[in-house]
Amino acid sequence: MERVEIENQAERESSARAAAIANLVRNAHGEVVLPDHDAYEAARRVWNGAVDKKPLLIFYCSDAEDVIGAIQFARLEKLAIAVRSGGHSVAGMSLCDSGIVIDLSRMKRIEVDRERRIARAEAGLSLGEFDAATLACGLATTMGVNSDTGIAGLTLGGGIGKLGRKYGLTCDNLLAADIVTADGRLLRASASENADLFWGIRGGGGNFGVVTAFEYQLHPLGAELLAGPIAFDYAHARDAMRFYAAFSTSAPDEVSLDAALITTPSGERRFAVSVCYVGAFEDGEPVIEPLTRLRSVVEDRIVPRSYLQIQSANDSVFPRGRRYYWKAQFLRELTDAAIDMLLETYRSAPGGSFIVLQHVGGAISRVPNTATAYFNRDALYDCFPVMIWDDPADDAINIRWARRFWSAMQPFSTGGVYANNLGEEGEDRVQAAYGENYSRLSELKNKYDPGNIFNSNQNIRPR
Ligand SMILES: Cc1cc2nc3c(=O)[nH]c(=O)nc-3n(C[C@H](O)[C@H](O)[C@H](O)COP(=O)(O)OP(=O)(O)OC[C@H]3O[C@@H](n4cnc5c(N)ncnc54)[C@H](O)[C@@H]3O)c2cc1C
Repeated sequence: MERVEIENQAERESSARAAAIANLVRNAHGEVVLPDHDAYEAARRVWNGAVDKKPLLIFYCSDAEDVIGAIQFARLEKLAIAVRSGGHSVAGMSLCDSGIVIDLSRMKRIEVDRERRIARAEAGLSLGEFDAATLACGLATTMGVNSDTGIAGLTLGGGIGKLGRKYGLTCDNLLAADIVTADGRLLRASASENADLFWGIRGGGGNFGVVTAFEYQLHPLGAELLAGPIAFDYAHARDAMRFYAAFSTSAPDEVSLDAALITTPSGERRFAVSVCYVGAFEDGEPVIEPLTRLRSVVEDRIVPRSYLQIQSANDSVFPRGRRYYWKAQFLRELTDAAIDMLLETYRSAPGGSFIVLQHVGGAISRVPNTATAYFNRDALYDCFPVMIWDDPADDAINIRWARRFWSAMQPFSTGGVYANNLGEEGEDRVQAAYGENYSRLSELKNKYDPGNIFNSNQNIRPR
């Protein structure tokens, strides 16, 4: 008797779930993809091919109403929620098992107000799509370095890019956002509306709701910037890196100098710097020249380039579907001991991996740490190894090496980490991303998402 009752109960639940899904599909302006749908396999894939999760359904939203419907559905059905825009979360946080993926990637409207230098952009745009639209008006704002990344996750976690030292983080250029909160309300967050929420979404990631649209401050940008890679012979890498350390520390805000230890396709190691001068290239030439005069230069491709070309120059390094892992930490300076450690550890790196020093500082560092949720503004480099491979059998070797590298560099770290480069590393590390802003964020979480339904992220616990 008892068994029959349990079976009946399970049947009732499954038909109630089916009815709820049918209702969601009926009311959707966008598309709901279920596991029996032909498109499901492709729809459950994200940028990192090592992420393999199977959601109950993927809801490609068309507008804010769809997002509200998705959140209400998830709450009623007590489902896990993941929010996906560009799908570039390295740790796969924009996907979940058995829950709902609220996907905004089809929401791509953008309007650029040339006069006021403001862009209103829906959350599904990639960086490349956003840059192309604003640049058509001779304007741009800070975005990251891979054109396939989504503007949404990038902006909400901070947003580091080549214009950052001149104009601040992406989130520093955010003027307003439309956001659906856990209770299903569509709010506008700006300096004058829901200002506490506006503070929190500038660095606090996806913790407070689902952003449907952003408004950004734009800046005039020349048709071409002086930019490109310069590489140094590995035998003299130590000297080149010492020069780089001093040069990148004293460089004006116009100069962005992302650097890396790389291995060329023919197996040679190099120290390489990606130079970008954000200003007139006649002004940039004398500033950059000392770097190009180093004797160990083996390749110099610094020339005037269009910003779109600069922004997509490394796209081929990060194709969708390969397996990736990285583990990051901020450095305040690049001491001789840090340089030695970088060179020493890179010796044993698995093939295909490289070590990145993403150059921050400049205007980013002049915003007070507590002015926005993004905290670690005193850093000069975001340091992380990028592991890339294809065979699942190589997962352990790559992940283990990256973690070892991270530990070796710990003595040189500020102790802080960029939230957008943080995987499932525990609450301590989330606190390291937010420093003394964490307790304020925790209170904000309690106000806007007390049940922590938005938890597939660098999670801030409600207080
Ligand atoms: C190849 C590559 C290059 C990168 N380069 C840079 C770089 O130069 N600078 C930099 O700053 N970062 C960079 N990143 C990190 C990047 O900023 C984060 O991975 C970011 O989360 C990607 O945003 P997305 O929309 O593509 O991510 P998704 O995977 O779609 O989302 C990631 C997380 O963001 C949140 N989120 C996404 N959309 C929304 C939304 N609409 N509302 C609320 N929350 C949302 C959710 O918590 C989600 O789990 C890079 C990542 C990759 C993979």
